[in-house]
Amino acid sequence: MGFPHKFDVIVVGAGPAGCSSAYLLAKAGLRVLLVERGRSAGSKLLWGGKAYAQPIREVWPELDKEAPIHRWVTRERFSFVWGDRVLTIEYKLGRSVAFTSYLPELVSWMARKAESAGALLVEDVRVDEIVVENGRVVGVRSGSDIVRADIVIDAEGVNRMLLEKLGLAERLNVNSSVALGVKETLSLDPRLMEERFNLDKGEGLTWLVAGDITRGLPGGGFIYTMRDSISIGLVIPIGPAARAAEEGTLKEHVSELIESFRLHPYFNRFWREADVIEYGGRMTLEGGLSMMPKRLYAPGLLVVGDAAGFLVNTGYTIRGVDTAVYSGKLAAETVIEALNKGGFTEDNLKSYEDKVKRSYIYRELKAHSAIEDVMRDPFYFTKIPQVLVKAAGKLFEADYEEPTLVGGLLEASRESEVSLMKMLFKLARVVRRL
Ligand SMILES: Cc1cc2nc3c(=O)[nH]c(=O)nc-3n(C[C@H](O)[C@H](O)[C@H](O)COP(=O)(O)OP(=O)(O)OC[C@H]3O[C@@H](n4cnc5c(N)ncnc54)[C@H](O)[C@@H]3O)c2cc1C
Repeated sequence: MGFPHKFDVIVVGAGPAGCSSAYLLAKAGLRVLLVERGRSAGSKLLWGGKAYAQPIREVWPELDKEAPIHRWVTRERFSFVWGDRVLTIEYKLGRSVAFTSYLPELVSWMARKAESAGALLVEDVRVDEIVVENGRVVGVRSGSDIVRADIVIDAEGVNRMLLEKLGLAERLNVNSSVALGVKETLSLDPRLMEERFNLDKGEGLTWLVAGDITRGLPGGGFIYTMRDSISIGLVIPIGPAARAAEEGTLKEHVSELIESFRLHPYFNRFWREADVIEYGGRMTLEGGLSMMPKRLYAPGLLVVGDAAGFLVNTGYTIRGVDTAVYSGKLAAETVIEALNKGGFTEDNLKSYEDKVKRSYIYRELKAHSAIEDVMRDPFYFTKIPQVLVKAAGKLFEADYEEPTLVGGLLEASRESEVSLMKMLFKLARVVRRL
């Protein structure tokens, strides 16, 4: 790395979390080095989805005017699918709180903001190790180069190999804590898209899908309208998928699952004539408090974003961009406070953990953790959609007498070999824990 070998702050990883910290600290006048292993910031990130605006505005109030926002989300849909039958609920929002964007573009914008505030962004450089001397972090090593700093912010994302090497995080257990997100981008004329999704010009929609599109595995599908494309995808926990494949209950490869989602007769009509312009997969955390590393700080070190486990995975959708940006802000505030107190000792940095615990991030993670085990139960992803879709069929496909709602539910649950009591009990479990 051919540049000064001492900085005030080194931030590892130019994702949303790293860019947020780097931007705020450079703006506060510190000498910041932001290191990204991808060819350019954002280039390694696969994601076309929805981000909550307000936490991001707290770092960049100019977000709405400047950021590469594709559409403001004004409609939320949720569908239960069983075979070719679909039960859909739609909510038209009174005000839009989130937008769709393409993560590589959004992150590239964030990285440019950090640069324009004075951070030195170096791309295509991988940090191999966080360097510790006499019990405190003193910098980073890339190849044979060591660059020193008073504090290092680890924003390396979900893999957190550097934290593992430091002994601050355990190796992620693929069978219990990792999910696979697969996604396709389909290009579509914006006018056609707006007509088909019932959107006004520039408006966006997010759509979550549960049911047999995941063949009984916990997880689900998502559809996001972008500026002139649609992102569709599936989120599936790796452990249950591997077990189902071994037992022979899952016969399709994940690429076939997403293809059958794309070709599903109900959904396919929304993107008829669209071309697949991009596809890919990326590992993500299952989310929840159990994904947090043992420590969020150590002498000379803070951990932010996905590396810190600040990711909410509902089973159908993943939320981590706003929490990453917000944790980057909390870390930057802690750095400035610690600097004013005289240095980056453990005592001066521990307020970061307090800040996180008082923030919406922790509350969100806690709420999600409360239903974590419940949401791993395939019952919620198979039997419940099946019964609800069948009950709708009983109500709407009656030739003569339409059953009552309860009658329809009873008949559907009998056909699906589920007791209605069990179903109500399972639903009550979720509600009680929320
Ligand atoms: C399929 C999928 C869909 C998603 N959908 C959504 C969504 O709709 N909404 C939402 O809010 N979130 C979503 N997420 C989650 C979101 O992408 C992450 O939570 C967010 O990007 C986390 O930001 P981060 O900065 O912590 O980490 P990352 O975005 O992962 O950034 C980390 C950066 O560090 C770099 N890096 C890693 N190691 C090193 C190293 N050793 N040296 C140098 N650089 C390094 C990486 O290249 C990367 O650029 C989705 C994730 C997936 C997988």
